[in-house]
Amino acid sequence: MDIQYSCVGCGKCCNDHHVPLTLNESKRWATDGGAVIILVEAFLENGYGIPEHQLNHARSRSLLVSSGEARAYIAITFAAYNAGPCRNLNSDNMCNIYERRPLVCRIYPMEINPHIPLRPVTKDCPPHSWEAGPDLIIGGKLVDSELATLIEQSRQADRDEIITKEAICTQLGICTTALKGDGFATYLPDMPSFAAAIEQVLGQSIIPPSESNWCFQLSRDSITDAMKLHGAKISNSGTGIYTFIPLQQVSSALGK
Ligand code: SF4
Ligand code: SF4
Repeated sequence: MDIQYSCVGCGKCCNDHHVPLTLNESKRWATDGGAVIILVEAFLENGYGIPEHQLNHARSRSLLVSSGEARAYIAITFAAYNAGPCRNLNSDNMCNIYERRPLVCRIYPMEINPHIPLRPVTKDCPPHSWEAGPDLIIGGKLVDSELATLIEQSRQADRDEIITKEAICTQLGICTTALKGDGFATYLPDMPSFAAAIEQVLGQSIIPPSESNWCFQLSRDSITDAMKLHGAKISNSGTGIYTFIPLQQVSSALGK
């Protein structure tokens, strides 16, 4: 499939999208006065919760942790909390931090997850942005090598930072996850505490292996029963920390 594309500056992608951030971007976002949301999902070591063809990619950006008698691969995303317009979007639909905007903002509308093909209809960009402009994809291949490099940088940051992000969650007392495909466990921590936790964890010369025992909060009894059979620890607390966010709001592949 060939795709042409040109951003028309409508600003739609800067509204109501939680923008995934690298660790350094998260720290800066928090200290600049923005809010960071933490999204957690996991699948079991034995593969429950993940399609087989996605296993390698999902494992590469996850950390193996305990959950009751089971083990689970946990993935953690720190994202700019953008309910409504992003705090950096000005009245002319321009980005106030354009030169230092997050990596994922530079990648949109491309997908980061290699298992999600780019589908213009699922994107915020209006139809005329796909009707002209430079070639984006020719013969199924991304044309722009700089864009390809940015996508790889984002994937590498996911792989490199998962141990640190899990340690930060432990520091913040976060130890409940959702099952991949069932939703996301989401947290909106107090930002000074979040920034302090990042500071503290990054200040350690070696981050010790995770000893936390994560529990799952699940949406349906049928899934809960299956997870119990696998020995996973299930949350009965009903603390309200778990919020089910439709995947398209978190943006494709946890991209923007
Ligand atoms: S940082 Fe800039 S480009 Fe990214 S969502 Fe906010 S306004 Fe848009
Ligand atoms: S939604 Fe698409 S066309 Fe509109 S500003 Fe964002 S990238 Fe550009």
